[in-house]
Amino acid sequence: MDRMTRPISYRWIALSAWLLLGTCSQAATALEHVLANIDGQPRKLSGKVVVEDSVGSMLLETDDGALWPIHVDFISTRSKDDKPLKLLDKDELAQRLLSELGPDFQVHDSKHYVVVYNTTRTYAKWCSSLLERLQKGFLAYWKKRGCDVHEPKAPLAVLVFSDRDSYLRYAKKELGPGGTNAIGYYSFQTNRIAMYDLTGMQELRRQNTKRGRLSDITALLNQPSAEPLVATIVHEATHQISFNCGMQTRYADNPVWLSEGLAVFFETPDLSSSRSWSGIGKVNYSRWDLFRKNFSNGKVPLLKDLIATDDRIRNPGTAVDAYAEAWAWNYFLITWHTEEYAAYLKTLSAKPQLVQDDPETRLADFRRHFGNDLDELQKEFLRRMSRLK
Ligand SMILES: [Zn+2]
Repeated sequence: MDRMTRPISYRWIALSAWLLLGTCSQAATALEHVLANIDGQPRKLSGKVVVEDSVGSMLLETDDGALWPIHVDFISTRSKDDKPLKLLDKDELAQRLLSELGPDFQVHDSKHYVVVYNTTRTYAKWCSSLLERLQKGFLAYWKKRGCDVHEPKAPLAVLVFSDRDSYLRYAKKELGPGGTNAIGYYSFQTNRIAMYDLTGMQELRRQNTKRGRLSDITALLNQPSAEPLVATIVHEATHQISFNCGMQTRYADNPVWLSEGLAVFFETPDLSSSRSWSGIGKVNYSRWDLFRKNFSNGKVPLLKDLIATDDRIRNPGTAVDAYAEAWAWNYFLITWHTEEYAAYLKTLSAKPQLVQDDPETRLADFRRHFGNDLDELQKEFLRRMSRLK
C-alpha cells in the first residue's frame, strides 16, 4: 500500500469494539493512576479520564498528549488524586522522548514542535521549518474562513529516523507486523508524527550530492521526484494540526473521506519560498486526473456512498479511487460551500469520543449542513469541477 491507500493510524479499529457496548460519559478532571495490560505488558499510566463507560472502560489522556483506549478487562488497579492533568512543556516532552528512544537521539525544538531525531541536525531543522510554515498557513487559512481554530495547546512531537529500517522498527510496535510502506505517519493515539530522513533515499541522491547544508537539502527536496514524498510529510502534518487546533477531535467519529480529503487538500506544497506557505488550495492534479478518468468510465459511485461508511476508502482495492473522490469533494465544498463546511466540521468535532455513528446519522449530519438534495449538490459539483483548469 502506498501513502494514498493508508489511512491515519487506526489503532481504534481494533480497540473500539467495546465502546459500543455502553454509554460513555465525561468523567471528572482528577488525575487517574491506572495499572493496565497494554499490548501484553503491564504498564502504569497516569492521566485524565476523558471518557468512561458504565463498566469502567476508558479513554485516558496522559501528560504527553497520548490517548489510551483501555478496556476494563485490561485494568488491574486504579486510584485517583485531585491534581489536574498538566501537559508537558517543550523541555519535558523532549526529555520524555529522549528517554524512550535512546542515546542516539537528539532534539531540535521550534515554536510549536519538538523534533527528536537521529539524523542530521540540518534535516531536523528543515522539517521543523516546513511544519511551522504549514501550521501557520493552515491556521491563517481557516481563521480567515470563520473557523474557530487555535494554536496547539501543547508542543507537538515529531520523530525523524535516519533510515527506513529504524523507522519501521518503531512503527511496527504501533502498526503491527504489517507496518507501513509510507514514509511517515500520524498516530492519533500517540499524537506524534514519525518519519524518516528522505535525503538518505537512493532515488533522490545524485552522485556527489551532499546533505550537510540546508541549501543541499532544499535542492534535493525541490526535485520533482521528491514532490510526493514531501507531500506525504505535509499530509501527515496536516492531520496532526487539525487534531490539535480544535478543528477535529481524536477518537470521535471522523468520516475518513473528510479527514483524508482535508489532508489531501493541503498536500500541494509550494516549496519555492522558504518563509511563507503558498500551496493551499491548488488543484491536486494526480487526484483530479484519476477522478476524471474513473468518472468517464462510470467508476465513481454516488456521494452518499462516500459519506455513509468508510468502507471504500479503507479497502485497499478501492482506496486510491476513494482518495481521489475525497480530494474532489473536499476541494469543492471548501471552495464553494466554505461556511457550511466549517459548520459541518464544528458539528463533527463536538461528537462524543469512542462512539461510531451509523450510516443514517452520517448522512443526516451531512444533509443538515449541505442540504437534503444530494443529487442537486452532485450536479453543482460536476458543473463547477468540470471548469477546473
Ligand atoms: Zn491521511
